[in-house]
Amino acid sequence: MRFDIITIFPEMFSGVFSGGVAKRALEKGLLEVRIHDLREYTHDKHRQVDDRPFGGGEGMVFKPEPIFEAVESIRKNKRSRVFLLSPQGVKFDSGLARKLSRVSQVILICGRYEGVDERVIRHLVDGEISIGDYVLSGGEPAAWVVMDAVSRFIPGVVGKEESVRRDSFFGGLLDFPHFTRPRDFQGIKVPQVLFSGNHAKISEWRRRKALEKTKALRPDLLAKKKIAPEERVILESITKKGKDNEPD
Ligand code: SAH
Repeated sequence: MRFDIITIFPEMFSGVFSGGVAKRALEKGLLEVRIHDLREYTHDKHRQVDDRPFGGGEGMVFKPEPIFEAVESIRKNKRSRVFLLSPQGVKFDSGLARKLSRVSQVILICGRYEGVDERVIRHLVDGEISIGDYVLSGGEPAAWVVMDAVSRFIPGVVGKEESVRRDSFFGGLLDFPHFTRPRDFQGIKVPQVLFSGNHAKISEWRRRKALEKTKALRPDLLAKKKIAPEERVILESITKKGKDNEPD
């Protein structure tokens, strides 16, 4: 899969792929990323990408011509998808990240200033993506977020695929709690069950903890999830006792 990023600050992406999972994905050729300078698609001496808004008021707005030209020259085929990063877009989540991981080319346009000329939104892009209800000063950090989350769903990018499947949101739940050495940290002990060597018991405990955490922290996720009969039994027991009585 390939990402094409259109930005007026290409240098902002220089550190993004210098480590971690993204770096490995690029090295293995599982992911390709191209950063495009929007100014390369201007034809005037000042390489102007923005202008004052019609109707007056504060701030500058990205002109449509360079963005249209950039997308038209970067787009590989009809299956390519083009998104504007925008606080007005659909809220980015795990489901959308998974969907995008199956698209062969995703073009992301990073806005700045007051945003972009509305004709880009109405006549060029397939959609707008927001990473949350707040306003960033540019789309670049949002593009990084989208690329990172999407690339985790490309087979082979994350070493163990089962860990992606178990991660928060994938199965409609938050992840279970993790512990590592030491067993006793300043008197705070790791739950006994994790040393039992009994894998069935451990996975039962983890499932229970994932349900408990989700119920406490993100009941909205449970409301959307298809709950298996055995999960319902666990959830009901959490309600009854108020608190899980497993040792931990
Ligand atoms: N005036 C606009 C905000 C412009 S912010 C409005 O109120 O809707 C400048 C740019 O930052 C946007 O064009 C967009 O590309 C990016 N941006 C800001 N907030 C964002 C968010 N929550 N998600 C994704 N991109 C965002």
